[in-house]
Amino acid sequence: MIYLYGNRLLLAVILLFCFNQLHTYQKLSMMMNNQPTNWQAIKHHLLESLRLELWIVQPTCDSLAVSGNKQLKLKYHINKAQQEHKAGILTFGGAFSNHLLATAVSCAENAIPCIGMVRTDQLDPVNPTLNACQQAGMQLIALSRAQYKQRNEPAWLARLQQDYPSTLIVPEGGTSSYGVKGVSEFDVGTTPSGKADVLITATGSGGTLAGLSLGHPNCQALGIAVVKDTTLSEKIATLSQQQTNWHLLSDFVGKGYGRFDDSLLQFCLDFKKDTTISLEPIYTGKAMRAVFTLISQHYFRPRSKLVFFHTGGLQGLAGLLYRGLISQQEYDLLMA
Ligand SMILES: *Cc1c(COP(=O)(O)O)cnc(C)c1O
Repeated sequence: MIYLYGNRLLLAVILLFCFNQLHTYQKLSMMMNNQPTNWQAIKHHLLESLRLELWIVQPTCDSLAVSGNKQLKLKYHINKAQQEHKAGILTFGGAFSNHLLATAVSCAENAIPCIGMVRTDQLDPVNPTLNACQQAGMQLIALSRAQYKQRNEPAWLARLQQDYPSTLIVPEGGTSSYGVKGVSEFDVGTTPSGKADVLITATGSGGTLAGLSLGHPNCQALGIAVVKDTTLSEKIATLSQQQTNWHLLSDFVGKGYGRFDDSLLQFCLDFKKDTTISLEPIYTGKAMRAVFTLISQHYFRPRSKLVFFHTGGLQGLAGLLYRGLISQQEYDLLMA
């Protein structure tokens, strides 16, 4: 009898072990399908006194070049190019564009030829972003500012498509319905301490904000505009398929896209010292400073769980150093 019982116990232990293995496997495979995420809680006296939680989340990624939101926005463009056996991908960006570099590296990883049309009068091969794009195998073509302005015009795009017949043309920033879909599948709605209330992102073209709102209908998505663009809300309304759970704040752009003053740079340096998290002043630093301004203005309901999507962009710091907009010491501190 005892012998039998012991056997059953053994069986139960084996079954439990197998179940556990299965469970672990399921968790792992889920992580591989949905982008694995990195969560970090921010500690700050303001947050404590207002009983707010602030979490920073980002997709885990080995490479600075494709970190953040751009890899999410590229996913379905890459899929489409592969499924439709396209000859390559062509896209647009400024001379220090996070999107161009993310495209160059993602295409290289997937053995897809790619072309980057760069807003510049003359290609500067020493520019660290363009240099990295070229190293990754991207073919670069300079577009004058006047030409670049036409990048979203249907007639101009149709002609471009004729010149590159079998090439997938990806809009600037990867912002299209494919880009929005990629972002919407990134699960940032559940923090390690429970359901998020507000999902916050730096907003340029609006694709990321639209994706957050679409993917998380039970959360509020909040975009901090880092560009001056009066049509941005309209674009986000379309991209989000008329979701209403998003809001765009345009009061924190300052002097315009890419412009920052010493106090914003200092905020990034202080934030790094306090939290060990790296920000840059073009996107994430501008947006994070806005978050702290909003917190101090009691913008968020007490006890809210706030999630800040760290959209990457740290490769841009090399460009700021290259142009002398930050010092070597500041660069080293921010990147450490
Ligand atoms: C592109 C980018 C954004 C803006 O994303 P949109 O989808 O264009 O609004 C924000 N942060 C970083 C670091 C980016 O590179």
